[in-house]
Amino acid sequence: MQLVLENVSKCYRNGTWAIRDFSLTFTPGVWGLLGPNGAGKTTLMRMLATITRVSRGRILWNDVDCATSPNALRAVLGYLPQDFGVYPNLTGTEFLQYIAAVKGIAGKAARERVAELLEVVNLTSEKRRPLGTYSGGMKQRIGIAQALLNDPKVLIVDEPTSGLDPEERLQFRNLLSELSENRIILLSTHIVSDIEAVATRVALMRQGRLLSCMSVEDLLRGVAGRVWEVVLPSSGLETLRQLYSVSGLVHRGDGVHARVLADDRPPFGTRLLEPSLEDAYLSALACN
Ligand code: ADP
Repeated sequence: MQLVLENVSKCYRNGTWAIRDFSLTFTPGVWGLLGPNGAGKTTLMRMLATITRVSRGRILWNDVDCATSPNALRAVLGYLPQDFGVYPNLTGTEFLQYIAAVKGIAGKAARERVAELLEVVNLTSEKRRPLGTYSGGMKQRIGIAQALLNDPKVLIVDEPTSGLDPEERLQFRNLLSELSENRIILLSTHIVSDIEAVATRVALMRQGRLLSCMSVEDLLRGVAGRVWEVVLPSSGLETLRQLYSVSGLVHRGDGVHARVLADDRPPFGTRLLEPSLEDAYLSALACN
């Protein structure tokens, strides 16, 4: 099972190249697409969801070209778009049954699948409430449930955790991990911590290009020995920022404690720190 992108590029009508020469092979597991706003994540996901056309290059689902035969991928696709809207007056059950009908699942099969998915996303006790009364996290979970109705082999979720509180984010991540067996899950975000916890591999993107794709461990290894704690008065902060990439700041009684990326000990550097994915991400963006 594989989803292959071969030199994929996308140019919008206004001449913006949102994706440039992007090549990557997705296999089962959770893949994090990480990049700043405007990197092209949504465009890439919409092309993979066969909603937006590819300008150049090819997307192949198990060797079938999605430009000429999109239905092969559509049949196994679940998609939770960034701007997922729900019908506020429908209950959880009604909404899922409605989407099931749209996807061609009817009768007893639909009822059973809806009940099963309400369990999976932990919304059985809320199934009779109108969606308009759901919290942000509950809406995202019903969104995942609708994307899972056809038991997709490829699940695409675009910026799923924005607007969720920390506990809802944790629940959502756990749900994705549980779903990842024998499925390709693509998760786009600009929030590094969302990916750190669930992704088996991380594709770093900027300005439509793939900068790198590797495991979280390899990304962390790449910055090991290069993350320093620097403690300095706040008046020195501006100079520090001009000279180094600063990946974090905490104001304490004895001054500002900064996380600084540097090959050698920087001025006011006190000790080496355990690298985080945020450090690796900033380092990759700074190098490319
Ligand atoms: P991300 O999801 O990483 O924030 P997008 O895929 O939304 O990135 O956008 C990538 C680039 O394409 C941006 O420069 C954005 O302004 C541009 N873009 C996105 N959608 C359109 C569109 N429909 N028409 C023209 N330009 C677009």
